[in-house]
Amino acid sequence: MSVAAEGAGEPALPNLWIDSEGIERNAARIVARVDLEIVGVTKGVCGNPRVARAMLAGGSAGIADSRVTQIVGFRERLDCDTLLLRAPMGAECPAVVENATWSMVSEPATLRALSTAANERGVVHRALLAIDVGDRREGVLPEDLDSLLETAIDLPEIEVAGLATHVGSFGGIVPTGANVGRLVELVERSEERLGRRPAVVSGGSTNALGLAFDGGLPERVTQLRVGEGILLGGSGLRRGDRGARDRRDQTGRGGHRVQAEAVRAGRRNQPGRVRARAGVRDCGVRRRAILALGRQDCAIDGLIPLEEGIEVIGASSDHTVVDVTDARGSVEVGDSLAFRPGYAALARAAVSPYVAIEVG
Ligand SMILES: *Cc1c(COP(=O)(O)O)cnc(C)c1O
Repeated sequence: MSVAAEGAGEPALPNLWIDSEGIERNAARIVARVDLEIVGVTKGVCGNPRVARAMLAGGSAGIADSRVTQIVGFRERLDCDTLLLRAPMGAECPAVVENATWSMVSEPATLRALSTAANERGVVHRALLAIDVGDRREGVLPEDLDSLLETAIDLPEIEVAGLATHVGSFGGIVPTGANVGRLVELVERSEERLGRRPAVVSGGSTNALGLAFDGGLPERVTQLRVGEGILLGGSGLRRGDRGARDRRDQTGRGGHRVQAEAVRAGRRNQPGRVRARAGVRDCGVRRRAILALGRQDCAIDGLIPLEEGIEVIGASSDHTVVDVTDARGSVEVGDSLAFRPGYAALARAAVSPYVAIEVG
């Protein structure tokens, strides 16, 4: 019951197969549904340039990542605007001003360091001032925006290209109009200070997509930074609103797969542990397989077996234990099993040096 790998040749195991067509399709669907720039976020796939290209092919206006290394790589490989999501460390500032179209900044000290680096290279750096509008993520509090703006305006090598927020999730619960309204007020305030309209108002991430599909984002928002929604589908639309979600959010999960090989298989008589798990009825002798895939390679809890009758029981740094008693065929040593990764599983597999990456 091994799952054949896509494409030519047997890929090394464990491996992560990334469905770039699904990614392109999701990007295109999102782009078609909103009147906004969509910047594709690649941090969930370790800045994979082929994934970035699929996002661009789907209509993404640029590519964002949290790591400077990836932004530098994009500059060499791709012809597109790039956005650095995480505030750079001091030593990274030269690479940022040389390679990133924009970066999100919320500290005056970072603005000054970027300005110094830009001055040394004779360039101007475009900063998006990051504001926390209630989701407790990175960003200045609204009351500190004025002083951050003053700092930025006084630095000739810094151009305030715009503002960036996360309006989608308020305290991680439901997107509301409350923090959206707050954003508009902040955009207007910075407009007064700057004496011009900020070119970019980057309103949020996948969490804000539902709001965007519903027409709930203010016109002042020009951009969303979308990772998960493009990689794995979904739009931050309310749970329990399934029908509406199916109608409006036409993104798909993609066919991404994590595959690993069984290095042990056999009967195990461990009624206690098995009984504790819901849904496993016969607690007598079970068949287990142990896969050569561990927490160093993947976020095991985010793996969903593609074959019915297989259940992930547990994992250590090097192994994953699966119950295969109810699998259709017998799972033997040397067989490979395939799983659908959630976001954390995808992100971890993509960065593990032990996992072969295939982009289909
Ligand atoms: C990761 C990240 C995003 C993308 O988030 P998704 O939920 O994957 O869409 C957007 N903005 C910032 C600042 C991020 O760090």
